Parts: sequence; structure tokens; C-alpha cells
Amino acid sequence: MKRRNFLKLSASACAALAALQLGDKDIFRPVQARSAAEAPKLPGSLGAKEITSVCEMCFWRCPIVGKVKNGRLVKIEGNPKSPANGTRVCARGNSGVQLLYDPDRIKYPLKRTGSRGEGKWARISWDEALDEVAHNLKETKRKYGPHALAFFDHGASAEFMRDIFKTLGSENYTNEPAFFQCVGPAALAYLMTYGYVTTGTRQYIDMKNAKAMLFIGTHIGENVHVSHVREFIEGLQNGAKLVVVDPRYSASAAKADIYLPIRPGTDTALLLAWMNFIISEGLYNKEFVEKHCTGFDELKKAVKKYTLQWASPICDLPVRDMKKAILLLAGNSPHVAVHPGRHSTWYGRGDTGRHQALAILAALFGAVGVEGGLYFPTHVKKGHISFGCVEEEPETPAKSISEDYYPFASTFGSPTSKIIEATLTGKPYPVKLWGINGVNILQTISNPYHTMEAIKKLDFIFCEEILPTETAIWSDIVLPGATYLERYDTVYTFDLLTPYLTVRQPVVKPMFEVKSSFWIARELAKRTGLKCFNYNNEVEFIEEELKGAGLTLKELNQKGGIVSYKANPYRDPKEFKVATEDGKVQLAVEDFADEDLDPVPKFVPTPAPPKGYVRLVYGRSPVHTFSRTMNNKWLHNEAPENLLWLNDKVAKKVNIKDGEEVVLENQDGYRSWPIKIKVTPGIRPDTAYMVHGFGSRSKQLSKAYKQGASDQFLVTEYEDDPFMGASSHRTNFIRIVKAGKVINLPELCPPPKDIPRFVPQKNRTGGK
Ligand code: SF4
Repeated sequence: MKRRNFLKLSASACAALAALQLGDKDIFRPVQARSAAEAPKLPGSLGAKEITSVCEMCFWRCPIVGKVKNGRLVKIEGNPKSPANGTRVCARGNSGVQLLYDPDRIKYPLKRTGSRGEGKWARISWDEALDEVAHNLKETKRKYGPHALAFFDHGASAEFMRDIFKTLGSENYTNEPAFFQCVGPAALAYLMTYGYVTTGTRQYIDMKNAKAMLFIGTHIGENVHVSHVREFIEGLQNGAKLVVVDPRYSASAAKADIYLPIRPGTDTALLLAWMNFIISEGLYNKEFVEKHCTGFDELKKAVKKYTLQWASPICDLPVRDMKKAILLLAGNSPHVAVHPGRHSTWYGRGDTGRHQALAILAALFGAVGVEGGLYFPTHVKKGHISFGCVEEEPETPAKSISEDYYPFASTFGSPTSKIIEATLTGKPYPVKLWGINGVNILQTISNPYHTMEAIKKLDFIFCEEILPTETAIWSDIVLPGATYLERYDTVYTFDLLTPYLTVRQPVVKPMFEVKSSFWIARELAKRTGLKCFNYNNEVEFIEEELKGAGLTLKELNQKGGIVSYKANPYRDPKEFKVATEDGKVQLAVEDFADEDLDPVPKFVPTPAPPKGYVRLVYGRSPVHTFSRTMNNKWLHNEAPENLLWLNDKVAKKVNIKDGEEVVLENQDGYRSWPIKIKVTPGIRPDTAYMVHGFGSRSKQLSKAYKQGASDQFLVTEYEDDPFMGASSHRTNFIRIVKAGKVINLPELCPPPKDIPRFVPQKNRTGGK
């Protein structure tokens, strides 16, 4: 039976999705709806001086305390009872105050009056807005069937509206573009190797107790998630050695014992050569592999041809450096934190394989279930709830836009690229309505020009938004959503080294006419005739969840908003079992082979830059969460624009100076807005780098508009991961336009003959 294990593991895809969405939302079971009279009063936290809650300035969800004076939020700190972050929050966490009081916020329901993308709106009532959305949902389904409805979502509160699309019978929810544009390949690789996902909201990697760490492209320090950074730093303070592999000298690379400035797109070649080296030299953990892994012989045979000598010209790294790094890692096994990575949609082909290689390398070190390695999540119990959303007409389309193209997509929803393609072409069936919640799709999905063309073809598009983002200005109806500081979401459980349970709750009353996502979804359900969301308000189901943990909301608040538990993250070797069907680590994945995909990772070269161009890569800023925070006053003051990192030797050859302002042009002729150059030896000559999320195209974002350049609007070329359909983001190349003159960049490290060169498509010329 095809995909036998995947389908079983997908049942625990609540584990996978949990990690990605709600922390740990259990399988639902029906409960009796309560009447309004029986509904508990909202807890008395409003108006109190200190209210505990959960941050949503990024997905990490640090427990926080909001300090409120005269009904106004004046400060946010970390929750001192939190075992993860204590009183610490990062700059973004602290700046939630400025999201709440952003003068550009969407204050009322809006209806488009100009053309899509123009940003001209009229204020309407909630009744009008909800009736129009509900009418279009019903009519589109009636005319074209349920699969004509597509939903793009991100974050915990978007789950309520996703349930509406699912209940209406659509398979086309994207389970957030952040999945198909971010963690998807890594999540699949770890799910199939270990039976659980370690790349979700939190990551089960014990850096604090590691003796050595390996980062492939991970740039902790620029990528700031409070407890993660803290564990990384504690690991270094405890004496852990660090190997960083990255074409750019990142904040992590600056702390490395060994830094390998690899040629982009060749990480899997390095990992395969390392695996072959430790297997052939007998440096792998034989006992662990024999007792706890399957597929070793297949792996050994498959990696045999990948020697360090073979990898050296491909990766552009000296053999001695690669050898030194693997000896350092193997010498510290099993206490090696092989970081699983997070954003994994780099090159399309090979993305799942790269993360599978990381997962396997950890197993070869025996770095699983031990201090300093991958650890096991400890389940925290909470109550089961059901919103009662039952599919009225479950319907399978003749051809699915997830499963028929990508065998390992369906658990996670439909790939965004296929939804956009179906919207543009009407094949395999028409997609006519989009709903969006919590994601700025024009700044996240590859080829935003395609996305805009697709939007023009829709019958209807609506979104729930907090700020007038690019996505909002392309919508027909905009529903003003409450920020995380004004609403309840759910009970969060974190199954970490010290597990804990907490809840997101409002620290101030909702401002203007904004509403919580639960309220919006419940109203839409009523108006579309769905029997759904059988709780009167969020507190009712939160109490139900807490009941399963033996708590009430009042008790939880009396305990400081957090309850911590004892963990069992490590395993006695005698009891060791991972979550796969046979309890063993899968070094070769049978389900992949069943679908004619490689059961063990293989090196698939990604094309090198065309002559005159360098590859464009991107990353995070410690003070921003991509486009979401660009309009935040405090964060904008800290980092108002991004810079393009350009290698110093390349810059010298074409006479570009540090701080000069230029425009970037990609291989298809699409140009960026002006961006300043940072000339540095800290990046390879064949690569350029910028922080993602800048260069907003929404004039209604008074701080973010036209600040810096958007890498996303230069990502016009992409390739889908053949396993699960995530779209690549590092398959684009740029050259420079200075004072209107195009400058071709010199090639200082040409690719070897094994790596083909990218050939731009003739019909893909962009606007200048
Ligand atoms: S890392 Fe910062 S932004 Fe993210 S949840 Fe924690 S405090 Fe908030």
C-alpha cells in the first residue's frame, strides 16, 4: 500500500500541525453547547494591572505579562514564571505595544471601491461585511463546487476560519503559506525519519546540553526566538563546539569553531560526503544504528560514491576543512545538536532530501533521545474540544491539486503554487474565491506577480487583517481583526525540556470595531448555514481545554498564567523507541520509494547563476518578523531599511562603494526598489543577501511603504519540492542597476562542470 506509513503518521499530523499551529491541539470530540446565560463571565483580568498572555509578534509564543494603566497597555515583559523565557522578551515582543496603537490599523469593516490593489475603500457595517462574505462563500460553492474556495492562513486564530472552508468541503486550505513557503520539507523529512515533527512552533533540539552543534544555514542571533537563543548561548557557555555552514558570515558563524562558506545549493553534497566518511571510517554510532535504525545497508550503499574529494569542488570547500568539521562533530557524539533548520524551501528539488540528510546524520551520531541531541516531546495533557464543524457534503475532486501532484502534501493542505495555478488556468478545476487570515501573501508566496494576476481572476477575495498590508489592498472585503493583545486564542502546551501550559488572553479591550477571529468565524458560520462553533465565546472552550488539565482559567491566572510539568525528554537506551510504525529511525524511507522518490537523500544540483548575476539569498533581522513588523514605530526606528550584502572583491571590480544606493534586477528583468549596498568580505562572491520583508508596496503603511527592497518581488523563478509541493525561494539571481546603467557582476568562483548554469526562460521578462 502506497504511503502506508505517511498516512498513519499523518494521523499524528495533529502532532505535526500542532507544532505548526496551536502548540498541541488535541483531537476534537463533541461537547454540548452552553447557553449564553450559562457562559462563564470573562475572567477579571481586564482592568487589572498585570495580565499574563502569550506573545504573537512572531510564532515562538513566549509567555508575557502586559502592564496596563488606566485601560492602556504601557509595557510588555516576559512572564517571570515562564521556564522558557522568564522575564525576557525580544525587541519585537516589547514592541507589541506599538502594534496595538499603530495609527494605520484597520479600524472598521471595509469594502473595496476602486480597482483591486488600488486601496480605495468605504467603511461598512459588520452585518454588511459578514453578509457579503457569507453570500459569496455560498454562491461560489453552489456555482463551482466546494473546491473553488481556497484559504490562506497563518497563526493560531486563523484555524477557526479554516474550519469553515473545510466544513464547506474545500481541500484548498494552505495550512499557512508559512508551511509551503517555509518549514514544509523539513517537517516532512523529520516526520518520516522519526515519526514526529521537530521543526514546528518549537524545536526539540537540546543545544543547552550539547558538546557540539551543527548549523546548516541556521543563523541564530539574527534569527531571534528568546528561549532558542538562550539555549544556544548556554550551550556555547557550557563549552559546546560549533560548526556553521553558510555562504554568509552570519551572527552564528561569528561564534563558530569551524565556519564553512559553502557554495549555495550544495549542502546535501556535503552532508552525503560526511555520512559516507563516518560510515567508511567506522566513526558512526554502531550500537545505536544496529539497535534503533532500519535502512542502514541501503543508506551505506547509496552514499558510497560521495567522497570528501568529490564534494570539495562542488561545495567549494577544502577537503581538510570538511574533514576537520566532521571529526569534531563525530568526536563529540552522541551529544551533538544537529540543528534541524526551519525555513527549508530553498531550491525545490532536494529540499526534503537535505533535511532528511540532517535527520539521518543525527541518527548516525546516535544523537537522539540523549542530552545534547534531538529530544522527545513530553505530552502535556489538556481537554479535548470540538467546534462541531462537520463536513456537510464531503466531496473529493476528480483531481486533487495536492495529492495528485505531490504525494506527501495532503496532510498539510494544498500547495499554494497549485492553488494559484488553478486560479489562473481553471485546471484541474476553477478556484474562484480566496479567503486570507494572518498572512501577507504578496510578501510570502513565490512570484507575487503571478499571485496578483490570479487575484484579478477571482470572483471574490476577502481577508481578516490588522494592518492595511499589500494583501488587504487587493481584497474586496477587509474584516478588521483583533491583535493578540485584544483576544483569547486557545490553551497552549509546550512539550519542551521543561513542558508548560499557558493561555493567550486579552490584556486590553478590543479597540475600534475590531473583532476576534473566533467571533468572526462563528458569525460567518451562522450566515453560511453551518452548524459550527458551538461555544458562545472563547472562554467556554478554553475552560473545556483547561478542565482536561485539572484547571480553571481563574486558577491558572492565580498561578501566574503558567503551569510547568516534569519532562521525560531523554530515553534509556533499553526503552528507546521513536514514533515511527516499527519504533525505529528510518534511514531509508519506504514510503518515498513507493512513490518513485528517492528513499535516501541524493545530491540534486541546483543551477548556478547565469553569467553576470549572483544568487539572491535572504534571512531574518533580530528586530523584525518579516513584513509583519515593518510598520511598527519602535522597530522601524531600530531598522528602517534593509541592505544588500555584496562581496568586497566583486564590489571593487565594478566600482560599487559601501552605502551606495542601487536598484536590483533579477534574471527575468524584474527590478527592486532602491536599496543601499553593504560591501563586506562576509559573503561569497557568487551570492548576495538581504533581510526579508522590507520594501512594502502598500501606501497605507506609513512607516513601511517603500522602505528598503523586497526580495520577494525578485522571486519570480521557483520550483516545487516533488515530495510535498513547497515552492523554492533561492532559485533567483540578481545584477545591479546603478544610475540607470545595468552592471553585470564578475564571476569570481565559477561552478564546476557537474553544476549546470541557470538559463532564464524567454517568455518571463519582467517590467523594468
Ligand atoms: S521571540 Fe520575541 S517576538 Fe517571538 S514570541 Fe518571543 S518575545 Fe515575542
